[in-house]
Amino acid sequence: MRKLVVSLFVLALAVTVVPAEAATEISERLSGRILLQVQENGEAWYVHPGDMQRYYMGRPHDAFNLMQNLALGVSNTDFDSWNGQAPVRLAGWIVLLPHRDGRAYYVNPISLSLHYLGRPLDAWLLMRSQGLGITNSDLRFIAVAGTGSNIGGSINFREFSSTEFSNFLNTYSFANTFFASTRITITENESADARIRTIAASEGYVRQPIAEPPLVHFSDHHLQKNAYNAWQNLKLDAARAGFDLRLVSSYRSPEEQRNMFMERFIEYSKAVHGRIFTDEEIATGEADTALRVVMRTTAPPGYSRHQTGYAIDIAASGSASTNFGQSAAYQWLSANNFFEAKLHGFLPSYPLGADNLGPKPEPWEYVWVDRIHFTE
Ligand SMILES: [Zn+2]
Repeated sequence: MRKLVVSLFVLALAVTVVPAEAATEISERLSGRILLQVQENGEAWYVHPGDMQRYYMGRPHDAFNLMQNLALGVSNTDFDSWNGQAPVRLAGWIVLLPHRDGRAYYVNPISLSLHYLGRPLDAWLLMRSQGLGITNSDLRFIAVAGTGSNIGGSINFREFSSTEFSNFLNTYSFANTFFASTRITITENESADARIRTIAASEGYVRQPIAEPPLVHFSDHHLQKNAYNAWQNLKLDAARAGFDLRLVSSYRSPEEQRNMFMERFIEYSKAVHGRIFTDEEIATGEADTALRVVMRTTAPPGYSRHQTGYAIDIAASGSASTNFGQSAAYQWLSANNFFEAKLHGFLPSYPLGADNLGPKPEPWEYVWVDRIHFTE
């Protein structure tokens, strides 16, 4: 299945990409077409000739729903008189024969050939195979059905509570990552490290897998390819909505995380306790309180989602990422259970309202996962 989807995607890349035009013009020209988002993962949309709006074909049952809801009923007599080629007025339509077991056919908008849509999966694969590649910016010219907007409002995403977001990410299996056979050392003392890990677990931190190279490298950042693409698209969409999003943090190795964590721990110990704790003191629990305080803002090494290569920290232009939760851009991104974030495959890492999941809520951190896992 995976192989098939991939080869369809490669096929989609080979077909012509439509140049930008005026909105009406573009919808009319693409009427009845199946469009494949070449800059994403080949997601498919059907441009319905009846209303010139696009309908999402995320999964097989979406194709089935399209057949049920958008098809045009035709009589057996009419259908048989076509001899396998539909009349021009039905270009791009899905036709349905109510008196022949409700059989449905997709009419290729160019050749007018009829393609039988059988079971949901067959229908979905067949419609995709008739697809035309389109760029995200061109796709924006075509309204999404039922939303009056050009953003994918017809997609139904699973709703998550604040806690569920984080739990979902903690049990999610990230592609291109691995768990190292030995744990990263934090201090120079094994008992001290064990103590730190115990505290981390009691704060709700969960051990995270490490990114498998190669990552995409761009302006001081490293990200997994999917996360990189999704971030570029999110930034573009945010700009269209009037928000300038900035990437503050991306992949961090467990070693970088260790340095950051220990620096902050030492800094805090000096400022509040006037001294640095020894490894022995850490091991015997004397530094527990200080460790917990530091863990409210900084993950101990091995526990940061940044090491997966899928996590990003973002900021609204002109302000720090720690203020992102108060920005208008955050309102946009988080509205309707983080619809805009989900649309690009991002889930909030530690959303507001989530407690005992590691750090205090971090409205600026998002993690990319394959959308298929939360599309209903
Ligand atoms: Zn972060």
